[in-house]
Amino acid sequence: MRDFTSASFYAYLDEHKLMGTRCQSCGALHLPPRPICTACHSKDLAWAELSGQGQLIAFTTVHIALTAMLAEGYGRDNPYCTGIVQLKEGPAISAQILDVDARRPESIKIGTPLDVAFIERGTEKAKQTFLAFKCL
Ligand SMILES: [Zn+2]
Repeated sequence: MRDFTSASFYAYLDEHKLMGTRCQSCGALHLPPRPICTACHSKDLAWAELSGQGQLIAFTTVHIALTAMLAEGYGRDNPYCTGIVQLKEGPAISAQILDVDARRPESIKIGTPLDVAFIERGTEKAKQTFLAFKCL
């Protein structure tokens, strides 16, 4: 079994799986995964796959892009949207939000239903999978 680390979380993303940890003692679900339960401090955890469905609870549009996003063509004239998605299982996570018009943030609505998406960026050697969400 994989360690409960962010490296494992990204390894699962490469397999197009959104994985958190569930506490076997109190049932709390953690995303990103945690090696110790934040609710009861138990170390008795197990991997749990999330449905990837949720809703947008907060967002911002980014005009000053990170290097990896500049390479994708984002930037001052082509902003992208980053949001906090509350998953139907409970936990919330930040990720890029697809299918929205980041040039018109007033058109982006809190509560928008979303589904997980996996974006491959980089070349063969340095390929990395990024978490994102698309509009349903
Ligand atoms: Zn617990």
